[in-house]
Amino acid sequence: MIPRDHPRYESLVTREKLVEGVKMGITTLQGLIAHGRGEAFDYILGEKTKDFALKAEKTAVAMMLLAKHPVISVNGNTAILVPDKIKELAEILNAKIEINVFHYSKERVAKIAEFLSNFGIDALCAGDSELEGLSSARRIVDSRGILIADVVLVPLEDGDRCEILKKNGKKVIAIDLNPLSRTARMADVTIVDNIIRAIPKMIELAKEMMNMSQGEIEEIIRTYDNKKILSEAIDGIIGYLEETRRSL
Ligand code: ATP
Ligand code: MG
Repeated sequence: MIPRDHPRYESLVTREKLVEGVKMGITTLQGLIAHGRGEAFDYILGEKTKDFALKAEKTAVAMMLLAKHPVISVNGNTAILVPDKIKELAEILNAKIEINVFHYSKERVAKIAEFLSNFGIDALCAGDSELEGLSSARRIVDSRGILIADVVLVPLEDGDRCEILKKNGKKVIAIDLNPLSRTARMADVTIVDNIIRAIPKMIELAKEMMNMSQGEIEEIIRTYDNKKILSEAIDGIIGYLEETRRSL
């Protein structure tokens, strides 16, 4: 048991969940390493949802509200960390949930599907079609989901698939704490925030924005500039580091 008053309580609980996920065959060992990179970036961002993340989250919700076929792509880490929140967000946005993993096996996908079903999620995972131009298992998709999607939310994505999704004409929203990653630079909207804060924030925003007019929602998308957001995220890191150095 991790004591609640531990200064790194949140981070330790998250790690425990991922370790449990490995034991359950849902998270991979590589997933643990990827999380470590995420944590390092979260640390130098001050572990808070900053204004640049909020703007990206708002735009992401706007795009999904206007989408015809919005899909939330779920990998092992996402399934373990925020299953209940993914379900809530998908319901509000009328989005489908599809399981899509880099380290693919039928057994692993089945385990993730079973885990998600405990949260009332009927995830797409037929794996009956392929995205062209991608050699990794990420190419295997569901013909009712990512294949026909116009907007895809891809938390913790790898850069290659992000690129292929775009080549297939899809708008890509990434959640990635690393503003320097290929994914971050490739996506249409990059949410530089921890997934455990980003998804709940998007739920909150979706509830607020549900009743906005189409014009208002379109305006949010029209005025969004992802390059500017990434540059603000990098400034955010520099600012946080300088502030910390001054306080030594
Ligand atoms: P590329 O540069 O091609 O995008 P990558 O080097 O980012 O690839 P991956 O292992 O595919 O490598 O990426 C995992 C990404 O997920 C990392 O950039 C990390 O910052 C991010 N990440 C990990 N855990 C979280 C989390 N909890 N919330 C948000 N982002 C996370
Ligand atoms: Mg990446």
